[in-house]
Amino acid sequence: MAARPPPWEALLRDEPLVREAAALAVDRALLEGVLMRTEQEANSSDVVSYAPFTLLPSVVPSALFEQAYAVQQDFNLLVDTISRNEEFLEHALAGTIKVDDFTAQLFKIYKQVLKEGLAQSVFLGINRSDYMVDCGADGTPALKQIEINTIAASFGGLTSRTPSLHRHVLRVLGKSEEALKILDNNPAKGIALGIAKAWELYGSDRAVVMFLVEESQRNIFDQRCIENELWTRNIRVIRRRFKDVFEKASLDHDRRLCLEGQEVAVVYYREGYMPKNYNKQNWEARLLIERSKAVKCPDIATQLAGTKKVQQELSQPGALERLLPTQAEAVARIRATFTGLYSLDMGEEGDKMVAVAIADPERFVLKPQREGGGNNLYGEELKQLLEKIKDSPERTSYILMDKIKPQPSVNYLLRAHGPLKIADCISELGIFGVYIRQGKDMVLNKHVGHLLRTKAVEHADGGVAAGVAVLDTPYVI
Ligand code: ADP
Ligand code: MG
Ligand code: MG
Repeated sequence: MAARPPPWEALLRDEPLVREAAALAVDRALLEGVLMRTEQEANSSDVVSYAPFTLLPSVVPSALFEQAYAVQQDFNLLVDTISRNEEFLEHALAGTIKVDDFTAQLFKIYKQVLKEGLAQSVFLGINRSDYMVDCGADGTPALKQIEINTIAASFGGLTSRTPSLHRHVLRVLGKSEEALKILDNNPAKGIALGIAKAWELYGSDRAVVMFLVEESQRNIFDQRCIENELWTRNIRVIRRRFKDVFEKASLDHDRRLCLEGQEVAVVYYREGYMPKNYNKQNWEARLLIERSKAVKCPDIATQLAGTKKVQQELSQPGALERLLPTQAEAVARIRATFTGLYSLDMGEEGDKMVAVAIADPERFVLKPQREGGGNNLYGEELKQLLEKIKDSPERTSYILMDKIKPQPSVNYLLRAHGPLKIADCISELGIFGVYIRQGKDMVLNKHVGHLLRTKAVEHADGGVAAGVAVLDTPYVI
């Protein structure tokens, strides 16, 4: 993301110094709670390790950092607006749900819940809009959106602990003035405030907040940061899986969600965003939760609003203007972050884009309707797949996107048992947004912090959970 090299770049070539700093950094990370459970023992905290992180912060140009913050409330508004627009969702996803079973299943629940009528009246959105800095043909850096995550956007907890870690490393390297420039950041606090407010508006003192969690809970510490903020406010938190909901939950006559004798006010999903999260019972559990009066974060409509296909539809001329007709400035701010996005729907336009991508695969990223990293196709793989499916409706389950090309900068990616070696890296900046709607009224709309993730350039795809990117801290100059 570097527009100019960081002031410590030369030090990164001093291997003994780097080795010493890395050892100090790891211990500081552990002390700060930049933690993850191990792959071998994902459901026990007996032995834990540090979450992977960069040895040093990465430069983010201040104008672009501010731009990303400035557009976050617009994105919150946009996501909420889409989630309430049945016609838009129906139209945007019509082709996709014919060929993508996962999106189709989500859509089926969406329609079923609408048909019955929503019992829910308070809506909580927690999202993270992700960006990279594109160098552009003329070398002018521009902020370009990668995607927006409307479900289970993670690392808002651990990222609040990297500023002190990176300040420490900078001090160790004799860069104490630079250390002072590292910004504080605490998305977990803002996320928890959102959950707390939604819980309050739900209006039952005895009700609990349920974190819906995966079977494998490696990233539990990130979630605990939010949970603990809620406990501090005397809000009870329980952690359950879809399986528990299937076996033990029910709706009462007012469609209150009850589980083990407790009423659930808010369901916060840290699961449920990929096909492997679901079997038949889990889909039933999801439906039960969606039908309930509980505040779902997100509700199924908002999850659908975060699909790659919707992102592509938003880039169509006039789409944003139709969704936000009275918000010209917001529309302009949002559109400025878009890069080229292309539909592969059947028809002439789609045919043309398939041909262009096959001829120049390095220009694009091919994306299926998936979350969690590691699903996109690039280069030769992209070309081969498109050649195979170019005449089949299967192609409509993908979207095509211009590849964003940030300028690499050098850093060390520290991970347990990993080798210490210098790498050319690129970063992705995410801004967390939180909003609450009660009936038709937006009662809260905020940005609550940021996340910087960095990976070696040779990895085209993948986040921190996927084992590719690592946690970083922006050095905003
Ligand atoms: P997911 O929902 O699985 O995280 P993303 O759209 O964020 O899907 O893609 C995963 C990763 O692929 C991103 O974190 C980024 O590293 C890379 N990526 C995605 N889109 C682009 C793009 N247009 N240009 C360059 N890299 C991209
Ligand atoms: Mg995503
Ligand atoms: Mg992503």
